[in-house]
Amino acid sequence: MVRENEIREAETAVTLPPPTDAGLLFIGRIHTPWTSRMETPRQGRVDGPICRIVVFEPWVSALAGLEQYERIEVLYWLHLSRRDLVLQSPANDRTSRGTFSLRSPARPNPIGTAIARLVGIEGGTVMVRGLDCLDGTPLLDLKPDRTLFTPLAPPQRGDFQIGDP
Ligand code: SAM
Repeated sequence: MVRENEIREAETAVTLPPPTDAGLLFIGRIHTPWTSRMETPRQGRVDGPICRIVVFEPWVSALAGLEQYERIEVLYWLHLSRRDLVLQSPANDRTSRGTFSLRSPARPNPIGTAIARLVGIEGGTVMVRGLDCLDGTPLLDLKPDRTLFTPLAPPQRGDFQIGDP
């Protein structure tokens, strides 16, 4: 069952420091069919419903060129998340895992990311499939899918590799 804001038996919360302004700008708002966290998918699907990302001025001209990409990365602020959990119990089964080993929306900086399929752009509205956020979720950023960009140089001896001990 998807959580609202309860704390579960195996979970640990911490006292948050006083809120500070990280300087993030909400550059738009995302409109989806979902108004409850209970019904929102855990991860978006490419065959999911079309969602509308409404970009605010003065950022609409920043969309120029985005139309050439089939897949875009959407970053959003999961604004209804609790931010104080260090250990979480996704299955509520008395076991817990660290927040940074999960894609749970509950995290100190509740940034969500999704690779979405671009359906179209009309003025300042970007239509995509593949989102998993509530209607009204604030938009942080849009970028072309990172897998379309090749690294500048191949890994060098001594670079960190996933799987290294
Ligand atoms: N795809 C993103 C990621 O991996 O970073 C988010 C994944 S998170 C598991 C998706 C869940 O977050 C949804 O099922 C819903 O329960 C919750 N959620 C969606 N929008 C939210 C919002 N605006 N505030 C808080 N929780 C939200």
